[in-house]
Amino acid sequence: KAAIHRICSGQVILDLATAVKELVENSLDAGASNIEVRLREYGAELIEVADNGCGVSPHNYQGLTLKYHTSKIATFSDLQSLSSFGFRGEALSSLCAVANVSIITRTKEDQVASRLEYDHSGLIVSKESVARAVGTTVIIGKLFSRLPVRCKEFTRNIKREYARLLAVLQGYALIARSVRLICTNQTGRSGRTTIVHTQGSESVKDNIITVFGTKTAACLDPLDVKLLDTIQIEGFVSKPGSGSGRSSGDRQYFYVNGRPVDMPKVSKLLNELYKSFNSQQYPMAVLNFILPTAAYDVNVTPDKRKVFVHEESEIILSLKEALEKIYAPNKY
Ligand code: ADP
Ligand code: MG
Repeated sequence: KAAIHRICSGQVILDLATAVKELVENSLDAGASNIEVRLREYGAELIEVADNGCGVSPHNYQGLTLKYHTSKIATFSDLQSLSSFGFRGEALSSLCAVANVSIITRTKEDQVASRLEYDHSGLIVSKESVARAVGTTVIIGKLFSRLPVRCKEFTRNIKREYARLLAVLQGYALIARSVRLICTNQTGRSGRTTIVHTQGSESVKDNIITVFGTKTAACLDPLDVKLLDTIQIEGFVSKPGSGSGRSSGDRQYFYVNGRPVDMPKVSKLLNELYKSFNSQQYPMAVLNFILPTAAYDVNVTPDKRKVFVHEESEIILSLKEALEKIYAPNKY
C-alpha cells in the first residue's frame, strides 16, 4: 500500500515547480503577506517555504499530512465557489511520500512554535518546542530521493526544472497583491542569489516592474476586454515589436480568477497573432480571465494547472478581435 501511495504521489508532485507551487499556495491560503522560498542546490538538496500566515493548530499537526485531509473545504458544494488554492489535501501527504518533510509552525494562540518531523507515510516521528513568530515553515529535504528513476531524471534535468520553477514563481509574484514574495537559491559554487522578489505592492503593474524591470514594463499596453456580461479579460500585453518579448514564448502568464493556469490555446493564438502583426518576437502577456465559477473547472489535473473553460473558443475569439483592433486597426 505504501508503494502505491508513493507512485500516486509522484503524480501530484510531478516536479520541483509543482512542489514549490503547492507550498506557496498553502502560504497564500493561510493569509500570509510575507512568503520566503529558500532553495539549496536548485531545490534538490532543500526547499524551505516560510510564511507569516495563520499557522497550524496543534489539533491539526497529525491530520495535515494525511491523504485527503484538508481544512479548506467543508462540503462538496463548496467546490463551486472555492476561493482557496488547496482543497484536496494531497500536497503534504504526497510530499511526505517522496521527500523528508519537517514543519515548524505557530498560531497566535500558541506560546511557542512546534517543530514536527514526519515519516514517509505522513506520521509524526518527533515533536519539539522551538522559537518562531506566528506562521509556518515547511522544510522539504531530498525531493524524489526515494524514487530512484525520478530522482535520476530530476538531477539530470535540474536546470530545466529550475527554469520551470522560476516561471511558476513569477506567475504567483505577478498576480499576488500585497504579498511580499522572495525566492533565493544557494549553491556551493555561487553562494545565495535572489531569483524572484516582489515588494508587496497593490498593483499587478508594480509587480511587473519589480519582477521584470521598468524597461520591460514600459513595453506593455494595458488590456481590458469585456464580453457577454459576465466575462472579462484584464491585464497587459507587449506592443508588437517592442523588444519586451523574446525569441521564445516563455513570458506569458495566464490566470483564471487570479489562479495561475496553463492556457496553451491562448498562447498559440497570441504567438500567431503577433506574427501577423509582423512582430519579430513572441508576445509577452499577463492576462487574468475573470469568469463566473460555473464557467470553468480547474479540477482536471492533479496539479490544477490545466483548466477546462466552457466557452474557450468564444473567449479566444474576442481576445483576438480586441488585439486586432489595437494593433491592426485597418482590418476593421
Ligand atoms: P490542501 O491545501 O488541499 O488543504 P495540503 O496537503 O496542501 O492540502 O495541506 C493540508 C493542510 O495543511 C491544509 O488544509 C492546511 O490546514 C494545512 N497547511 C498546510 N500548509 C500550511 C501553511 N503554510 N499555513 C497554515 N496551514 C497550512
Ligand atoms: Mg495545498
